[in-house]
Amino acid sequence: MPEYMTLDRLSSVLAVQNSTPTWQNMENYLLNARRGSHVTGISELKKYFSRFGYLRSKYATNFTDEFDFALESAVARFQSNHGLSVTGKLDSKTVSQMAAPRCGVPDTTISSTLFTLHGTKRYVYFPGKPRWTRRMPMTLTYAFSPDYMIRYLSLSDIKAVFERAFSRWSSVIPVSFAETEDYAYADIRIGFYSGDHGDSEPFDGVLGVLAHSFSPESGKFHLDAAERWAVDFGSEKSTVAIDLESVATHEIGHLLGLAHTPVKEAVMYPSLKPREKKVDLQLDDVQGVQALYGSNPNFSVNSLLESDISTNWSVNLGNSTKYSLIFWGMVFYLLSSF
Ligand SMILES: [Zn+2]
Ligand SMILES: [Zn+2]
Repeated sequence: MPEYMTLDRLSSVLAVQNSTPTWQNMENYLLNARRGSHVTGISELKKYFSRFGYLRSKYATNFTDEFDFALESAVARFQSNHGLSVTGKLDSKTVSQMAAPRCGVPDTTISSTLFTLHGTKRYVYFPGKPRWTRRMPMTLTYAFSPDYMIRYLSLSDIKAVFERAFSRWSSVIPVSFAETEDYAYADIRIGFYSGDHGDSEPFDGVLGVLAHSFSPESGKFHLDAAERWAVDFGSEKSTVAIDLESVATHEIGHLLGLAHTPVKEAVMYPSLKPREKKVDLQLDDVQGVQALYGSNPNFSVNSLLESDISTNWSVNLGNSTKYSLIFWGMVFYLLSSF
């Protein structure tokens, strides 16, 4: 089965300098571009959508500046995948969504689960619906790279963050996680990497793409070492600080087999704002992962419904557009050859 990989950075036109995506400067003349428009910079947009799985010919170099049918379709699918109004043109919400930092995993995956009977969009899997195939209940081991960690956070703090993130998933499915010192043989291998780190998906510096991981049963879990990772916003004052626990929880979802959901409140939604904390699994996350692994016998959906999750869920069922989003990076996936 091919391995699906997260893309870890925005295209060059979306390169992030400090906290301001440079391409926001392009917004004025790209804004409201629609089919038939011929605007300098459209070719760069095509590269962007191409890299993130919304256009074929991912690595085509001869994109034109015409806003053609394929691009309109890509924009529409991008909007649909992010819970935006589907207009097929570059409205301001779409443009700002593209400019924001996010996860590197692709958005366009299995669409058959995208709509429920009620037309509600929901959880998504990778093509082929890969999952860990061991006998239930299973235990997956994880380890931190002995060489690629960050120094400004203590190892004990980092370990505590990941332990909490793993436990959120293990509380809902019959899969448990155990840390091991044996990095080479761990099922899930976690490390912080800078720029080009050997998997053809170089990281991009501050913001942009924050992390990427692989679908089952790869276990590779990479975080961008250039981010200002935070375990506590009380002590970490940076305006571009990213909550490590939120990203860890999200990436574990990928490692288990979940792709990006269009449900904005869910952990598996692809974007996260700096200084935002989003660690509680939502109904969409739980239903998605339980459809792969079954339910943890100790899990009660009532506990989920009684919490504020149900509030979030009902908000989602409405037509809320309360988020102004920042991406974890754009998502697309590669049919990886390794
Ligand atoms: Zn992701
Ligand atoms: Zn990587």
